[in-house]
Amino acid sequence: MSETFHAIRVSKSDAGQKTDFVDITLADLMEGDVTVAVDYSTVNYKDGLALTGSAPIIRSFPLIPGIDFAGTVETSSHAGFKPGDKVVLNGYGVGEGHHGGYAQKARVKGDWLVKLPANISTAHAMAIGTAGYTAMLCVLALEHEGVTPDKGDVLVTGAAGGVGSVAIALLAKLGYRVIASTGRASEAAYLKGLGAADIIDRNELSAPGRPLGKERWAGAVDAVGSHTLANVLSMTRYGGAVAACGLAQGLDLPASVAPFILRGITLCGIDSVMAPMKKREAAWARLAKDLDLGKLDAMTSRATLKDVPQLGTDILAGKVRGRVVVDVN
Ligand code: NDP
Repeated sequence: MSETFHAIRVSKSDAGQKTDFVDITLADLMEGDVTVAVDYSTVNYKDGLALTGSAPIIRSFPLIPGIDFAGTVETSSHAGFKPGDKVVLNGYGVGEGHHGGYAQKARVKGDWLVKLPANISTAHAMAIGTAGYTAMLCVLALEHEGVTPDKGDVLVTGAAGGVGSVAIALLAKLGYRVIASTGRASEAAYLKGLGAADIIDRNELSAPGRPLGKERWAGAVDAVGSHTLANVLSMTRYGGAVAACGLAQGLDLPASVAPFILRGITLCGIDSVMAPMKKREAAWARLAKDLDLGKLDAMTSRATLKDVPQLGTDILAGKVRGRVVVDVN
């Protein structure tokens, strides 16, 4: 008999969406040229949307959710990977249309995998996760637009969340003066520990504002969208740039063109799911160099597969601090 392994499976019927803990075999996985023994997965905001069914993230039922995982290659017919390689997967529709990371094994296309840099363990890779890799993509975008530490402060919204926490740690290590915007005043010490120099209440940014405000930051990483992003744009200094990656407040962008046509600022769209391989490899290489692993540990909590459904609800409620690593074994 084939060996069974544990997984979370989401199915859908007329009664709605249902999450089960199941034991499956390799025959239950989808097609791919690399099979990975998964060490860790994680819970990102998008996983919360998928697990709760609050947005149509899952496109094929029944599905093993989990948009990312890190583990060790078991078998491979892909030229780029051999058994024993340590790999990470972010996005590419995994956990949406292809079985994902909430299982002890995964079978995927080798073209979707990134080999982990030597100093990043599979546990650290998932402490970073898609949230942290997206934070790095945001920082790379700001650098590309010439937002250097000497240009002025950089704002991070959704600061105590996953993207926000990693962005703060990265930016602080790179020498930026970081302003953290949070709704959780109780997390001030945590955010300062990650490297935030200043903390502002997210209510300052979340209501409808003016087309142009006082110039307060040279750049920003925005995980929140909606009025917050509009206000972030309106308060960005002349020539600055804002990397927009998230929608925790909303999918809308009720903004004006004033910051673009009067202050020449740039809005950089950040997508992690279909980002080209070169960009992914560059981001993981920079994470290996520029992320303080002590700070990463300080923002990470541990969980098991059994905790995942509750964590999916918690992350949407803004109750998860930093990053959660899920030990699937
Ligand atoms: P988290 O839930 O960990 O972080 C989101 C944070 O946003 C919360 O911790 C909270 O921070 C803040 N927040 C939550 N609700 C609101 C609200 N109503 N108004 C204002 N702020 C709010 O999620 P992740 O870090 O995993 O993801 C952050 C965002 O980035 C999500 O929208 C996610 O979908 C997106 N994302 C996009 C990717 C891409 O490819 N573009 C990849 C990864 C993530 P605080 O308590 O500090 O205020």
